Amino acid sequence: MCNNVKELEGRVALVSGASRGIGRAIALKLAEHGARVAVNARALENAGKVAAEIEQMGGEAIALEADVKDGRAVKEMFGEVTGRWEKVDILVNNAGINRDTLLLKMSDEVWGDVIETNLTGAYNCTKMALRSMMKLRWGRIISIASIAGLMGNAGQANYSASKAGLIAFTRSVAKEVGSLNITANAIAPGFIVTDMTDRVPEEMKQAILKMTPLGRYGQPEEVAELAAFLAGDKASYISGQVIAIDGGIT
Ligand code: NAP
Repeated sequence: MCNNVKELEGRVALVSGASRGIGRAIALKLAEHGARVAVNARALENAGKVAAEIEQMGGEAIALEADVKDGRAVKEMFGEVTGRWEKVDILVNNAGINRDTLLLKMSDEVWGDVIETNLTGAYNCTKMALRSMMKLRWGRIISIASIAGLMGNAGQANYSASKAGLIAFTRSVAKEVGSLNITANAIAPGFIVTDMTDRVPEEMKQAILKMTPLGRYGQPEEVAELAAFLAGDKASYISGQVIAIDGGIT
C-alpha cells in the first residue's frame, strides 16, 4: 500500500468483472488510491479473491456476485453496496467477453451473448449507479471499450459493435448527466496481456505487435493508471471522451 496522499479516500467504487485481468488491476489501483471497492464477478469465489487482496493491502472491499446481463441481479448488487456504504461514486464498466468468429459463421447466440454482456451489462450497471450519483451530485462512469470499437476488426463484428455501442452510450450519458457533475468516459485499450488475449493465435499476436509503434503489448496496470486518473478530481473537466491506450496503434 503506498503512503502518498490518497486521492480517492472516502469514495466508493464498483468495478464490474474485477476477478482478473484489467478489472482486477483497476480494483486494486482504486483501492491503493483510497477508495472502498465493490469487486464484481459472476462467481463470488473469484470476486472474493480480489477483495481479499485489497484487504491484505489495508484497503476495504466487498465481493459481489452478479451477471451484469441480468438487470435484477445488478439491482440487488447495487443494493448491497449502498446498504453497506450508502453510495456509489465511481462505476467502472469493465465486465466483457469476446466470442470471435467470422460474421457468416456467427450464431445468434454468440452475437447476443457478447452484445448483452458488453453493452447491456454497462446499461444495467450505469442506470443503477446514476441513482446514487445524482443524489451526490458527483460521479465518475468509466467504461472499458476497445480500439475494436473505433476501428472494427475482422472476426469481431459482435465485439466491435458492442464496444462502438459502449462508446456512443458513454457520449450520450455524458451529455445527459453532465449538469449533475457526473462525468462519463470510455477507455479504449489495444492489446493488453490478460486471459482474454491469451487465447489469440500466435500468428495474430505477432501481427498486432508489428502494428504497435511502442513494440510491445500493454499491461493491465497501465490501463488501471488511466482509470484511476479518470476516477479522481484531477479529471474533473474530462467527459464524453474516448481515450485509447494502445501503444500507438490508432
Ligand atoms: P478477462 O481477463 O477475460 O476478464 C474478464 C472479466 O469480466 C472477468 O473478471 C470476468 O469474471 C468478468 N465477466 C465476464 N462476463 C461477465 C458477466 N456477464 N458479468 C460479470 N462479470 C463478467 O478480460 P480482460 O482482458 O481483463 O478484459 C476486461 C475488459 O477490457 C473487457 O471489457 C474487454 O472487452 C476489455 N478489453 C480488453 C482488451 C485486452 O486486450 N485484454 C482490449 C480491449 C478491451 P468471471 O469470469 O470471474 O465472472
